Amino acid sequence: MTVEWDRSVAAALHEYFVKREGELLSFMRALVEVESPSGDLEGNSAVVSLLAGAARQIDLETEITFESNPDYGTHLLIRAFGKGRTDAPATLILGHTDTVHPRGSTTERPWREEDGRIYAPGIFDMKANCALAFESLRACATLKLQPAHPVVILLTCDEEVGSQSGRALVEAEARRASRVLVFEPSAPGGSAKTARKGTSTYKVRAEGRAAHAGLDPEKGASAVLEIARQIERLHTFNDAARGVTVNAGVVSGGTRSNVVAAEAQTEIDVRFSAMADALRMEETILNLRPFDERVRLSVEGGINRPPLERSEAVVALYEHARRIASGVGFELGEASVGGASDGNFAAAVGATVLDGLGIAGDGAHAAHEHIIKSDIARRGAFLSGLLITL
Ligand SMILES: [Zn+2]
Repeated sequence: MTVEWDRSVAAALHEYFVKREGELLSFMRALVEVESPSGDLEGNSAVVSLLAGAARQIDLETEITFESNPDYGTHLLIRAFGKGRTDAPATLILGHTDTVHPRGSTTERPWREEDGRIYAPGIFDMKANCALAFESLRACATLKLQPAHPVVILLTCDEEVGSQSGRALVEAEARRASRVLVFEPSAPGGSAKTARKGTSTYKVRAEGRAAHAGLDPEKGASAVLEIARQIERLHTFNDAARGVTVNAGVVSGGTRSNVVAAEAQTEIDVRFSAMADALRMEETILNLRPFDERVRLSVEGGINRPPLERSEAVVALYEHARRIASGVGFELGEASVGGASDGNFAAAVGATVLDGLGIAGDGAHAAHEHIIKSDIARRGAFLSGLLITL
């Protein structure tokens, strides 16, 4: 049943995407121009209806499900190529419809093509890739190339703010999936991401004793000094070789310079490549002892996203993807990155995940966010190639 990945199939797909580039660019532009920062219900609903409309236009039976959340909007779930095989595990395509760019960004920095790049807020992360996901289905349907598994596209609406509401859906679909392809932005040079660090966040609070800084400082126990010492200690846990980073990014405390501070706190971001390190750091941070025994320390927080580890199954999936990419004429590189995505949640429930499959570009979350125009057609052919061979 599986379609052979040979030169003629690769060429037919590439030709399809070259021909469709104009329509595809208009769709990408429409998605970008409907601004949808996380939590903007109106923007989310507009972007979701554009995508659902595109799904309905594809000439194949698709099942569209809207999962709504009162705070974030609607997660969009599309099932395709499932006819006669509803129980079969699917190839799950993951993405998100929210962006980090506030409303007004596309007025300030409108869609612009220059030197083979297309600039627009949210285009690289990841509206161009949402459009490409749908076009990949359309390509398979038009060229009558049956994907090896049913295909499920899940686009969450709160990825950029930690997937509070999308996480359960991601996990449920990932558990049922044969493989998970994350259409998030690629690494530099268009490389796929075979490892992503996990993240934890903690807040460390110190309660000391206030005193007059000049008259009787010995009666005080400085919470500010305690937090300063704890920050120094926490930073010693940075371990580049193991891929562990610890950063005290926010600090506050005290009331006036002439008062020994009674309270202070810091917020810590921890990243790790292996779950074992996450647990070890958690144990350490939750059990921090004060340097000054008169100060009371309390810690809250925990592991948010588990790491996406570069397992043997991930490497095998990457090698397969590399072969498909070379069939459409490009070298698919491999990268490991510090940032997390919904791919981390999928990997944590046991799915085999290949992340960062989106169109080449740069500047996610930044003012120079863009995609490389010449990568669009071959990337589309490559993604369709994955669907038909996996
Ligand atoms: Zn993203």
